[in-house]
Amino acid sequence: MTSPEWTEVLRKRLAAIGVEVRVQTFTGDSSYPVEYTLIAGSVRTFGEPTLDAALVSLIGELLKVTSTDEVTSYRAMETALQGLSGNILALRTELLVVKAQVAEQEPILRDCEFCGGAHYTGQRCPLAPQAEQAQQEYEDTRKYMEHHSTGGD
Ligand SMILES: [Zn+2]
Repeated sequence: MTSPEWTEVLRKRLAAIGVEVRVQTFTGDSSYPVEYTLIAGSVRTFGEPTLDAALVSLIGELLKVTSTDEVTSYRAMETALQGLSGNILALRTELLVVKAQVAEQEPILRDCEFCGGAHYTGQRCPLAPQAEQAQQEYEDTRKYMEHHSTGGD
């Protein structure tokens, strides 16, 4: 059994860590003349005849809450992961669909590294190295056409 002095020390230490100690005294036919009830947040013990017994009771209640919380958080985590996997799969499917749609929707306007402009797929940049000859032919033709249309013959 705990001495009254030590009981006071324990009550102060419990109060310091946020555990409320309620002491109720009963007269008459009550089961115990004094009942200790410990309250830690949402966890509370039943009335116990000594502070020691109340502490054991609190440990038991806290262990229950902890294991329940662990199971709950594990399940919540599992559910969240399943949801996330589902979202990733849905997103992947969506991307594949979009990719297929884009592939069908050619031509696509693409930025050109040669002229700084943009061309549709299937079009060849007149400034692209592979098209130098074609560009030259184009320029020659244009000059030829200009010369013969403004000549005034
Ligand atoms: Zn270009």
